[in-house]
Amino acid sequence: MSNTKYIFVTGGVTSSLGKGIIAASLAKLLQAQNYRVTIQKFDPYINVDPGTLNPYEHGECFVTDDGAETDLDLGHYERFLNVSTSQANNVTTGRVYQSVIEKERKGVFLGKTVQVVPHITNEIKERICLLGETGEYDIVITEIGGTVGDIESLPYIEAVRQLIWELGDDNAMVIHLTLIPYLSAAGELKTKPTQHSVKTLMESGVKANVLVCRTEHEISDEIRKKLALFCNVKKESVIQSIDAQTIYDVPLLMLDEGLDKVVLNTLKLQSKPIDLIDWKKFLQKHKNPKEQVTIGLIGKYVELQDSYKSILESLIHAGAENETKVVVKSIHSEFLSSDDISEKLTDIDGVIVAPGFGGRGTEGKIDAIKFVRKNNIPFFGICLGMQMAVIEHVRNQLGLKEANSIEMDEDCKYPVITIMEEQKTITDKGGTMRLGAWDCELSEGSLAHKAYGKFTISERHRHRYEFNNEYREAIESSGLKATGINPKTGLIEIVENPNHPWFVGVQYHPEYKSTVLNPHPLFVDFIKASLQNKHSK
Ligand code: GLN
Repeated sequence: MSNTKYIFVTGGVTSSLGKGIIAASLAKLLQAQNYRVTIQKFDPYINVDPGTLNPYEHGECFVTDDGAETDLDLGHYERFLNVSTSQANNVTTGRVYQSVIEKERKGVFLGKTVQVVPHITNEIKERICLLGETGEYDIVITEIGGTVGDIESLPYIEAVRQLIWELGDDNAMVIHLTLIPYLSAAGELKTKPTQHSVKTLMESGVKANVLVCRTEHEISDEIRKKLALFCNVKKESVIQSIDAQTIYDVPLLMLDEGLDKVVLNTLKLQSKPIDLIDWKKFLQKHKNPKEQVTIGLIGKYVELQDSYKSILESLIHAGAENETKVVVKSIHSEFLSSDDISEKLTDIDGVIVAPGFGGRGTEGKIDAIKFVRKNNIPFFGICLGMQMAVIEHVRNQLGLKEANSIEMDEDCKYPVITIMEEQKTITDKGGTMRLGAWDCELSEGSLAHKAYGKFTISERHRHRYEFNNEYREAIESSGLKATGINPKTGLIEIVENPNHPWFVGVQYHPEYKSTVLNPHPLFVDFIKASLQNKHSK
C-alpha cells in the first residue's frame, strides 16, 4: 500500500451544507503547503453517473477532460485547485453495483453469495484507494455525498470504517460537516442536531476527528467546549464555518480556524509555510471592483442557481480579471418573445445564451440573438447557444425561415444543425454524447484567436448535434464565419460575426475550464467587450 493519507468528509443534519466547498478549501490549503492532493466524490444514488439527471434534480452536470459526466462539486475542485479531475474522481452507487454485477456475471466471485458486505464495500474501498495508489498524491480527500443516517449512505460509511481500521488512525481520518442552527426565539445556537448526527456516525463505528460547523452566527468558546465534550473531539478540532461573502473566502476562513493544522496533526504530517498569494490577489480584485457590468443569462433553468454553476463561476473569474463586478440578470428563454425582448434586455451590457437540450425555450433564444446581433450587444453562445445563433443567422440573414436543428424538428426543411454521424445509431442516453476534450484549430485574426493567443486549443464537449457542413459555404458567405474547427473531423467548433463588436458562439463548454488562477480567455474577453459596450452607450 502507498503512503497516501486519506481524509473522508461526511455530512450531518441536512444536505446542502457545502461539503464540496469545505473539501475544496481544505485541499487548497494543503496544496498551498506543497502537498499533492486530489478530491473525489462518492454519490449514493443509483444513476451510473449524473449525466442523465435533470438540472432541476441535481444542478449542472460537470464534464471532465476524459469525458466523464460528473457531479458539479468536481467543478469546485477544479476551480479551487487548478488541476483537472477525471472519471476516477466521481463514483456513484450505480457505478459500484454495475461493476460488482458485471464481475458476478463473469464468475469472478467463484460461486460465493454476492452481498453488500463485503462485495459492495470492497468495490467502494477499491475505488476510494484508486487515485491514492497511483502514487501521484500525498493526500486524497473523499467526499461522501448525502447525509449520515441515510439508508443509501450505509455501505459507504461501512467502507470508511473498514478503511480507517485497515489504514490506521495516522493515515485516515474523518471530517464531519454539520449544522449549528440558530433559534431566533431563544436567541441561541443549538448543538443537539450535531450531537445526534455524530452519534449516528458512531453507531456505524466511525468517529469524527474534526467537526466543521456551518453557522450563521459566531460560535462561542462555551459552545466549542460543549461540542467537543459531547461529540468526542478535541476543542481545537471544532471548526467554525460561518456564512461567507463568497465561496472563495472559505479557504482563508478555514486557515484562520486552523483546519489545515488540525488535519495535518491528525495525519502526522508537517505544517509548512503556506503560499496563497495568487489566491489573495484574485480575492482582492474580486472584492474591489472598479466597474460594473450587467450580463443577461438566457436559459430555461435560470431560476436554479446550480444549473449554470460553471458559467456563473466563470463570470466571477472573468469579472475579477477585468476588476469588474459582474451582475447576472437571469432571463427565462421560455417567456421571452420579440415583443418584450428590448424591455427585458434594457440595461444589459452583454448576453450569454446558455447550453441546453430539447425545444423548450429555443424560439426565445433565437429572438434574443436577433436582437443582440442587430443592436451590437456582445453575444456569447455556448453549445445550444451557438447552435441557436446559426439558426438565427440562416433564418434572418439568408431568409430560410424553416431552418432549424434536427433536435427540435426532425423533418425540418433546412437542418442547419444536424445529428452527428456517430450519434445516429445510438439509443442509450447515459454517457453516449460526444463528451470530453477535443482539439480545435483557430483562424488567424479571429476574436477567439486573439483571446486565446494561440492557434490550437482543447475544450470539453457534451452534445449530440453539430453545425451542418452542407450549409457552411452559404453561412460563411453571408457573414457568419467558422473560426474554430476540429482538425480531425472538420466539425465546426466556433462561429463569429466579424460585422459585430463581439459575437461568438462555441460548440464546446468553455465554462468547465475556467479556474480562479486561470480565468477562461473567452469569458475574460466577453466581459471586456461588455464593458466597452457599456462605455459606448
Ligand atoms: N442539445 C444540443 C446538442 O446535444 C446542445 C447541447 C448542449 O448545450 N450541451 O447538441
